[in-house]
Amino acid sequence: MVREAFAPEGVLSRAADHFLPRQEQTDMAMAVARTIEDGGVLVVEAGTGVGKTFSYLVPALLSGERMLLSTATKTLQDQLFGRDLPRLVQALGLPVRTALLKGRGSYLCLHRMELARSEATLPDRTSVRALAKVEQWAQVTRTGDLAELEGLDERSPLIPLVTSTRDNCLGSQCPKFKACHVNLARREALAADVVVVNHHLFFADLAVRESGMAELLPSVRVVIFDEAHQLNETGVQFLGAQLTTGQVLDFGRDMLAAGLQLARGLVDWQLVVSKVEKAARDLRLVVGKTWPGAKLRWTGAAPENVDGQAWSQALDDVHQACEQAMAALDTVSELAPDFVRLHERAAEFASRAERFTRACAPGSVRWVDVGTQLRLVESPLDIAEAVQSRMLNRKAGAEEAPEQSRAWIFTSATLGDDPKLRWFTEPCGLTDADILRVGSPFDYARQASVYVPRHIARPADPAHSAQVAELAGQAVQRLGGRTMVLTTTLRALRTIGEALQLRFEGSQGVEVLVQGQLPKRRLMERFRQGDSEGRPGCVLVASASFWEGVDVPGDALQMVIIDKLPFPPPGDPLVEARSQRLEASGRSPFNDYFVPEAAVALKQGAGRLIRRESDCGILVVCDTRLTSMGYGRRLMAALPAMRQLQSEDEFRAALDELTRTSTTDPSWT
Ligand code: SF4
Repeated sequence: MVREAFAPEGVLSRAADHFLPRQEQTDMAMAVARTIEDGGVLVVEAGTGVGKTFSYLVPALLSGERMLLSTATKTLQDQLFGRDLPRLVQALGLPVRTALLKGRGSYLCLHRMELARSEATLPDRTSVRALAKVEQWAQVTRTGDLAELEGLDERSPLIPLVTSTRDNCLGSQCPKFKACHVNLARREALAADVVVVNHHLFFADLAVRESGMAELLPSVRVVIFDEAHQLNETGVQFLGAQLTTGQVLDFGRDMLAAGLQLARGLVDWQLVVSKVEKAARDLRLVVGKTWPGAKLRWTGAAPENVDGQAWSQALDDVHQACEQAMAALDTVSELAPDFVRLHERAAEFASRAERFTRACAPGSVRWVDVGTQLRLVESPLDIAEAVQSRMLNRKAGAEEAPEQSRAWIFTSATLGDDPKLRWFTEPCGLTDADILRVGSPFDYARQASVYVPRHIARPADPAHSAQVAELAGQAVQRLGGRTMVLTTTLRALRTIGEALQLRFEGSQGVEVLVQGQLPKRRLMERFRQGDSEGRPGCVLVASASFWEGVDVPGDALQMVIIDKLPFPPPGDPLVEARSQRLEASGRSPFNDYFVPEAAVALKQGAGRLIRRESDCGILVVCDTRLTSMGYGRRLMAALPAMRQLQSEDEFRAALDELTRTSTTDPSWT
């Protein structure tokens, strides 16, 4: 049945736009079907254009098994749930109940919306207007998913005021509990056959067992992780421990508000709260005026450059202030459910503060993120142990056999640069999984070329970004926009973005878009329009989050320029700790960690270029190490086999060729 679905006249020809039978897609679907039938773990790297979503959805739906699907972002979740899944369910004619479950921060909290109105503490006029819009929409929405609300800026200060956190949700004591959107979404997920979640929610729940996943997981037989290359980095964020001074201050503020409103005069709330706040502020002050954005290594008793005695005293004070708050809250806990929640929060912070006075757990690393507030972090180096023990039920030394019948599928376009996909399987604890690699069906040698300019400054040279901007400016002018410049640092993003904006200021021919100047969704909408309908073509300068998951098929994107090879930042405490662990086991951090990381990130960045069979484009990597260093060959081999442009002349000729083959013509040149 699975094979038939992928045949020329099969079900998929009715469910997908422009469906073409592809051997790679069918191969992946058959492997997924086998794993579902037999149980076990399958890891599939499916190159761009394979159509991997249908490759796992078709066999999973046809199996009739209950399944959990997790993807990397809320946008991808919406796409899967709102587009691919319903189309396929309809085409297959299956009576399947599907549900979408996001983290609580994605849903309107009816209780807090009311508080936001009655407490009148909105930060500005825009928020007052936004709240009116939210209230209007609240009358008609069934799901309460804020993604439905057109035009609500994801950075709006209103959002934390109309959504809940685990800390401030009143749970079953809430007056709005019956109509609560968070609870409705969870109830629907528990009743559905197919539940779509995201990796953040999955790991958050694995860590604190809050959103119902703990009940959901045992009842599903198929678990599929798409965009699985993000699992390790997402997982480590949730599986460690964190304490922020901001959380403690928020707690103090909430306790004062509840105390004065519900138990005025019964406790000296000002006094108790002032101790909590002072302790949180003092902890921040101990670190001094370290540059905001810094990460302080924390390998001994205190973070680097911080006085050890002052640090442990400050942590102790946070612990004690939270314990005193607990004692005060105990005396009024009968009066309102709010005090019970506050007591739980105080206990949690007291225990975390105490944890950070003890030594770091083995196999973990600690550091402090410095901003206006402090964030104390203890993170495992990877998720291997958690995957083995909490997901696959394989406890070290356990006598009972691991549970075999469940099928686990992990897939992504990029999972490593070797046949065993060790970049992915080692940190995820999946080294004994079945591995399948299916290549991209695109003809890269015909559709794409790669160019490494020889005369550009070395990446460490301070002139490097300016030279990248100059090269990009000339090429963009020739091509009429249609370019994405991906940078490895925010500093390079600023330098290149400003230089290009200056160069094309007032130009009718090219519009320069820079990450951070507009919300991501608006940037991408404009970039995708390209030079259609008389608009100028665009160049988009972006970093980090644009290296992956961005899909711009067609002429709007024909050139991707990467400023430097994307090695992990060597001074990062997590990167350092991973390197040290490899060294301790006799392995080479450079060959076994830095190069594979760069290979995967480079593949992701380059993967933005060719999105369908008719696309053509040029990848420019402004880093001479790709051709001059030995490891450059390994990185080049990780990229699809594109034609290599050897000189500036060949590069210009390739650009001119692109303008000729485009469906739109940059006639202004
Ligand atoms: S139960 Fe929690 S999330 Fe739901 S409305 Fe009440 S406070 Fe908000």
